[in-house]
Amino acid sequence: MSDLYAVFGNPIAHSKSPQIHAAFATASGQDLVYEARLAPVGEFAPAVAEFVAAGGKGANVTVPFKEDAYRLATRLSERAARAGAVNTLSFAAGEIVGDNTDGAGLVRDITHNLHTPLAGKRILLLGAGGAARGVIAPLLAGQPVSLHIANRTADKAEALAAAFSDMAAVHGGNYEKLSGQQFDLIINATSASLAGASLPLPVGLFAPGSLAYDMMYGKGDTPFMALARAQGAAQVADGLGMLVEQAAEAFFVWRGVRPETAGVLAQLRAALAG
Ligand code: NDP
Repeated sequence: MSDLYAVFGNPIAHSKSPQIHAAFATASGQDLVYEARLAPVGEFAPAVAEFVAAGGKGANVTVPFKEDAYRLATRLSERAARAGAVNTLSFAAGEIVGDNTDGAGLVRDITHNLHTPLAGKRILLLGAGGAARGVIAPLLAGQPVSLHIANRTADKAEALAAAFSDMAAVHGGNYEKLSGQQFDLIINATSASLAGASLPLPVGLFAPGSLAYDMMYGKGDTPFMALARAQGAAQVADGLGMLVEQAAEAFFVWRGVRPETAGVLAQLRAALAG
């Protein structure tokens, strides 16, 4: 019988994870089945228990269950503990091991797919929610020269900066405070683009040669990507590569095999454009 995996979320019908993992399995010759499972809000733990009882070996976790998964895990990887959220669960020998591959996925997309090393860069992270928190430690591991976190609610950015101050000098504040500064890499980890909203960024933030990265993806530019182009960012990207790379990292955690991602990313990109 094939090994069983799934992604849990609510809603979940839109998820591209089953398609991505099926493509990884075919390309790497791994015998597995990967399903999308809708869990009722407030009933994540019983949904996972049912899945484990049915033989589930591992699961991805998406909105709104990443913090439930963090609490459910009997053991956490260091990066999941730092992120305060779990997007990858492994079930073995009665244990529920929680990991977080979002940050690794983002860093892999930026450094490998977009050919942009982090070392020596001035990084600006927009947003202070779960997605922002999950990527801070992996970004700092790339040895940027500085990391600023800016958020509509400044307190949350300041608290997040303080939580990572043992790793490096991290600064937090509101958008106005950015005035007069320049950055080499600006990452949008807010959900503003979801609502089609633009961010009130001061002009002049994008340094020559800078990369603007939106964790959101869809058909065409997000409002943040359009703003970045208008303000002179040299390279502009959406979060489709992050989605594929976080999946590849989860696949590696479960199977010990690192799948090739370029073909899957090209397929998804073509489907989005079509
Ligand atoms: P949260 O709800 O935890 O955080 C939302 C953040 O966005 C907060 O910082 C909030 O600011 C800010 N925000 C929301 N609306 C606005 C607005 N109109 N103007 C300014 N700021 C706003 O969400 P997540 O952190 O979980 O997700 C953020 C984004 O990242 C989503 O779009 C999600 O789809 C994307 N994502 C993509 C992934 C990928 O693989 N590509 C993986 C994970 C996430 P405030 O604190 O002031 O409310």
